[in-house]
Amino acid sequence: MEHTTSPATIATPHPEQEAVVELHDLRKSYGKGSAAVPILDGVNFEVRRGEFVCVVGPSGSGKTTLLKCIAGLLRPTAGRTVFEGEEVTEPPAKLAVVFQDYSRSLLPWMTIRRNVALPLKNKFAKAEREARIEEALESVGLAGKGHLYPWQMSGGMQQRAAIARGLAYQPDVLLMDEPFAAVDAQTRIDLEDLVLEIRAKYNTTVLFVTHDIDEAVYLADRVIVLSGAPTSVSHNIPVDLPSPRHQVDTKREPRFGELRAFVFEQIQAAKSNAVRNRADA
Ligand code: ADP
Ligand code: MG
Repeated sequence: MEHTTSPATIATPHPEQEAVVELHDLRKSYGKGSAAVPILDGVNFEVRRGEFVCVVGPSGSGKTTLLKCIAGLLRPTAGRTVFEGEEVTEPPAKLAVVFQDYSRSLLPWMTIRRNVALPLKNKFAKAEREARIEEALESVGLAGKGHLYPWQMSGGMQQRAAIARGLAYQPDVLLMDEPFAAVDAQTRIDLEDLVLEIRAKYNTTVLFVTHDIDEAVYLADRVIVLSGAPTSVSHNIPVDLPSPRHQVDTKREPRFGELRAFVFEQIQAAKSNAVRNRADA
C-alpha cells in the first residue's frame, strides 16, 4: 500500500522521536563562594527531533545563560546538558547559534559571503563549501548579495545573513536567542515565516528564545515558560494550532488568543514571584 503524508502532518513532531537536547537539573550561578548569585536553579526539559520549542521568560531570567550552557559556551555550575546523547563539554558540531545582536555577530570588514564561510573554514573541501554558502544565502533570500558588506545592508538583511551562517553548517539544531528583537515589525514577521520555512525544508530542530509572547505562540509546537531568577521551568505548554502557520489566519484563531493569554498570565506570575524572592533574600 502506498503511504502519503498530508501537508498538515509534515511539520508535526512525533512524540516518539528521540530527544536531541536534554537539560538535567541544570544550575548556573555567577560569582564565587558567598557572593555567588544563582540564576538557573534546576532547569529540566527536553527537545525532540524536528520540534520547534520556544522559551519565554522575564528579562533577566537567564534565557541567554541557558542557551550558552546548551551551546557549550558556558559551563554549568551543576547538572548537565546533553546533545544527541552526549554530555555537552564543548560547542557541538551539529548545533548552530544565532544571537540577537547581528551587528556584533557579523564581522564588518568581511563581505556577507566571507562571513557565512567563516565557520566552514578548514572543515570542507572548497567545492562543498561554495555549494553550502550558495544554498544558505538562497534559503534566506540573499542569493546574489554575498558581495555586500554588513554595513551596506538593512538590519533585517544582516539578520538573514547571520541565519545563513548558521544554516551553512547544516546543523541538526538551531538555537536562536531573541533573534528578531532589534528589527522593525514588518521585517520581524518576514523573518518569523522564514524560520518556519527553513524548519519545514530541512526538518531542523529549533530552540528559540524570545520575550515576545505572540511570537512564541505563533512559531512553536511547544512553549516553555521560565520562572524569574532563580529560574526553573514554570510551564510546558503544547501549542495545538494547525500547521502550517499563517500570520493572519493563525492569529485570528480563538485558540491563539487563549494560548497567548495563558502564557502572558504565567509570565506575570513568574515576574511577581521573582520580585518576592528578591525581597525575601
Ligand atoms: P535573559 O537573557 O533572560 O535576559 P541573562 O541570561 O542574560 O538573562 O542574565 C540573567 C542574569 O544573570 C542577569 O541578572 C544578568 O545580569 C546576570 N548575568 C548574565 N551574565 C553574567 C555574567 N557573565 N556575570 C555575572 N552576571 C551575569
Ligand atoms: Mg538574553
